[in-house]
Amino acid sequence: METLHIPQGINYECTGCGKCCSGWAVPMTEADHERISAVEWTGINPALRQKPLYRELTKNESKGTPYSHKIVSDTGTCPFLVDKLCNIHAERGIEFKPSICQLFPYCFSETPTGVYATVSFVSVGAVYNAGAPLLDQREYLERKWLEFRRMYPDYKPDWSHTRLSVGMPITWEQYLQIEKRLLEILKEDEKPLAVRLLECSSFLRTQLPAAAGVPTPVAAPTTLTDVPPLNSLDKALLSVFHKMYFPAKALKQGDGDFSAMRLAAENFLGSKRLQLPGTSFSVEELNALPFCDDKEVDNLLYRYVFSHVFGKKYFGAGFGQVSIIPGFHHIILMLSLLKLHSKALAKMRQAPAVTMLDVAAAIRQLERQVGETQLGGYSAAAWEMMLGPSTRARRLLANIH
Ligand code: SF4
Repeated sequence: METLHIPQGINYECTGCGKCCSGWAVPMTEADHERISAVEWTGINPALRQKPLYRELTKNESKGTPYSHKIVSDTGTCPFLVDKLCNIHAERGIEFKPSICQLFPYCFSETPTGVYATVSFVSVGAVYNAGAPLLDQREYLERKWLEFRRMYPDYKPDWSHTRLSVGMPITWEQYLQIEKRLLEILKEDEKPLAVRLLECSSFLRTQLPAAAGVPTPVAAPTTLTDVPPLNSLDKALLSVFHKMYFPAKALKQGDGDFSAMRLAAENFLGSKRLQLPGTSFSVEELNALPFCDDKEVDNLLYRYVFSHVFGKKYFGAGFGQVSIIPGFHHIILMLSLLKLHSKALAKMRQAPAVTMLDVAAAIRQLERQVGETQLGGYSAAAWEMMLGPSTRARRLLANIH
């Protein structure tokens, strides 16, 4: 098989909290359905009386997927989860579960230099870095990758459009050199994460002349002092992205798409307050609440950024074919939103400061919602334009703490 690259410092083990088994429709392949539906589950667990437990997907639902059925739930929680325990797992072992549950929360990015494994931060185990290092799970991860490959035979990510910025293509080898430096900077944990991110953004900017064939590097600021406050467009962007990633009410079809029109309308006409169920907050109101000074939270935010970069989940085939610099600035914007949303959660429960629980809830929601984002056409162009400037990234880093 292809070389499997496994990140250092990322652990995973199921914590048995049951939270990952809610809020999803669990799809099943034909083989999953045949295997699982052949068992009389109500005989094993009388709690599984809900009928029917499965339904066939419509042609539209199954189009382009390896799935034929899904597990039915009328509560939003998988009916096989009883007392925080997966009954399929308990009765028949992990390899009897639906394929998607076996793969979760592992993520794989296939690239010209091999497959890069990471975990999804929707998983509570991933958020808390629970269990054994992924590096010690190589054999299991290799099996999961092969299963993923079998399930998605058409998965062929196209990295041939890798660009540093709009109109600045780079080769995969050039990208790997850039990524090497980004990861080195990110690992300098004697510096605050915001400073490391700023240094990464500045470093990326110095690569622009090289990509354009111009030899002189562009100087870029690497300190967070004397930075102007957030401007009106920064706040409008925070509000638009917050609506997308932390929707106060369920998004309608099409809402999961960034449209240039929508961004413009939100900027000029819309509220710049961050909406939460039944309330809203301005950036200033949220900023006034202290974030948590906690090593565990620092480590979580670092791992979140590191996983995106190592897993190549922020640009090119890893994220809507956006270019590298706006993709990296999107990570900075996500971190800003994570902080603001964690503060909003703390404020809503009238807590004096943010805790790890607020950040964990925010990061799980963000990861889930970002995974469902669609990006293409005019939306991608607007997105690149709004997130390209390193000055905006610097203002976000300096003004949201
Ligand atoms: S089948 Fe088991 S692991 Fe999968 S969602 Fe249901 S309870 Fe969770």
